[in-house]
Amino acid sequence: MSHDYDLIVIGGGSGGVRAARMAATYGAKVVVVEEFRVGGTCVIRGCVPKKLYVYASRFKDQFETASSFGWQVDASFDWPTLVAAKEKEITRLEHAYTSNLAKPGVEIIKDRAVVTGPNSVRIVGQNRELSGKYILVATGGHPFVPDIPGAELAITSSEAFDLPQLPHSILIEGGGYIAVEFATIFAGLGVNTTIVYRGDRVLRGFDEDMRTGLEAGLIERGIKLIYQTTITSLASSGNDVSASFSNGTTAPYGAVMFATGRTANTMGLGLEAAGVKLTVNGAIMVDAHSQSSVPSIYAVGDVTGRVALTPVAIREGWYFAETLFNDNPMAVDYGLIPTAVFSEPELGVIGLSESEAAMKCDVDVYLARFRPMINTLSHKTERMVLKLITEKEGGMVLGCHILGPGAAEMIQLVAIPMGMNATKADFDRAMALHPSAAEELVTFKAPSYSYRDGVKIGA
Ligand code: NDP
Repeated sequence: MSHDYDLIVIGGGSGGVRAARMAATYGAKVVVVEEFRVGGTCVIRGCVPKKLYVYASRFKDQFETASSFGWQVDASFDWPTLVAAKEKEITRLEHAYTSNLAKPGVEIIKDRAVVTGPNSVRIVGQNRELSGKYILVATGGHPFVPDIPGAELAITSSEAFDLPQLPHSILIEGGGYIAVEFATIFAGLGVNTTIVYRGDRVLRGFDEDMRTGLEAGLIERGIKLIYQTTITSLASSGNDVSASFSNGTTAPYGAVMFATGRTANTMGLGLEAAGVKLTVNGAIMVDAHSQSSVPSIYAVGDVTGRVALTPVAIREGWYFAETLFNDNPMAVDYGLIPTAVFSEPELGVIGLSESEAAMKCDVDVYLARFRPMINTLSHKTERMVLKLITEKEGGMVLGCHILGPGAAEMIQLVAIPMGMNATKADFDRAMALHPSAAEELVTFKAPSYSYRDGVKIGA
């Protein structure tokens, strides 16, 4: 049976664009249907603008340290300048994504798509039907907002980048990546910032030493932390938003932001009617090759609820195209994914946390805490934390955790030897590069402590 296209991709974000480009490169006739801007969350309202705002916010720390190095800086910050510069850059990237799709011949339709069957998609605005041998759903996700009275008065990360002006204060609910990153962005830009989190310390699931170190860094930057508390309602209060908390208190803020997780974009897509099975969280259930319960419909990226990280979506999109259009079945290995929280201080992680490793086998832990050199001339006492977790007695490196300047860049490189099953001896063989923070990773002598049969010893 002939179809209009070999592949219809719904969603022009990281995963969809990579799949479309690769499939077209392998000779497939491909269309991408995107209702918003090409580039997806990462480019338009996620990783890219976030990192630009992180850079903007970090000047505060640098200006504070500058005088210790002899500089006198009289700095002020202008929010509209940053917003406009960000917009220019993401528009440039959007054009780059669009032309990269055009090069191998991918068609782009700017409209909303709804799946109407295993091989058919309705283009809603244009009111026409397309048929495709395969359909790839790569529609990403959107911020989850708790169902509380006045929730509409709050913003999410989607709106935070384009606020007409910086609020005098902000309350951010959540303790994950987005809460912590935006808290340090806003605090760095001079906003009085508070995090309210239902747990007992930010970044649940991360290594405990990293969580405590990061928490100390947030406090040092003036961020207030309210734990074991949630927002129960929001109300207008003049130009402010008044937040009521589960602990019975109420307080006004210039803005309130929910960073309470993200939900897959599957609503109104016609998936269930087409027979596509969803998880309890509304994500598309897929197998190792990203195939859904309907054999002709596949899904990659955040909409699958697997790992909500751009490089993972890109890899899923690539392997999807390899499997279907290059006769080369490939499945993504989710085992060793480096990740970073672009907070201040920055956190980079790969592999197991200390508690995860200790539950798995006997391990040695190598831990270094020191003032990064940039702080030594200043009043700043903040310490950098590096942790290497290995199988006992110099075995394989199981986890690496870094908190401090350059953590993300270091972890990306550590991912290479760890992907090759490097041992402590492999790390030790590397010549140190001095003076650097990363040299600590290759100069650890004896373990700081160990775990044997799950019991911590030698601490
Ligand atoms: P996370 O899942 O990281 O964090 C969500 C936070 O919200 C958690 O602290 C969670 O609490 C809390 N929460 C969830 N539901 C509620 C609720 N009903 N009431 C109160 N609190 C609630 O999600 P994010 O939104 O921060 O980020 C989404 C994903 O995007 C991340 O998991 C990550 O995969 C990706 N991302 C990656 C970035 C990076 O690579 N640097 C940056 C930003 C996002 P609890 O801990 O108790 O579950």
